Amino acid sequence: MSTDILQSNDESHVSRACETYSLTTTQFHALHSRSSAAKATAYCPYSLFRVGCSILTEDGQHIDGANVENASYPVGTCAERVAFGKAVTEGHKKFKAVAVATDISPPASPCGMCRQFIREFCELPTPVFMFDKDGAFVVMKLEQLLPLSFGPEALPPRGELPAKA
Ligand SMILES: [Zn+2]
Repeated sequence: MSTDILQSNDESHVSRACETYSLTTTQFHALHSRSSAAKATAYCPYSLFRVGCSILTEDGQHIDGANVENASYPVGTCAERVAFGKAVTEGHKKFKAVAVATDISPPASPCGMCRQFIREFCELPTPVFMFDKDGAFVVMKLEQLLPLSFGPEALPPRGELPAKA
């Protein structure tokens, strides 16, 4: 497990991360810039804590999201769940990488609920990039963020879901 803090403007750090997770540097920088830009779309009048998320799909598309809060505080939704909700309902099923960005330093990791939410849709080796306000980042595999997890494959078999309309 690596919680080393790396720098997105350090080519050796970026290339090492990209090699480890089979990403191009273009994909890396898009994950950084898009997750950071997505912060601007956050609705967070209560926490004032902006979070942006960008998901890279297996076929190279990005789906972005940000946190959306609510006057009834627990109803608020994190950036990661907003982005995955968008991605899944737009028909995306396979994902290559996840990035989250906040306005703090050092980088912040997805909350526990989001780790499980991501686990539903991503393979355990999927990299989760966490960017701080200055471009420093930490990258960890999903299985490192959520060890000994269970997912849909762990549930008992059941009948087929009703056919799609
Ligand atoms: Zn969360």
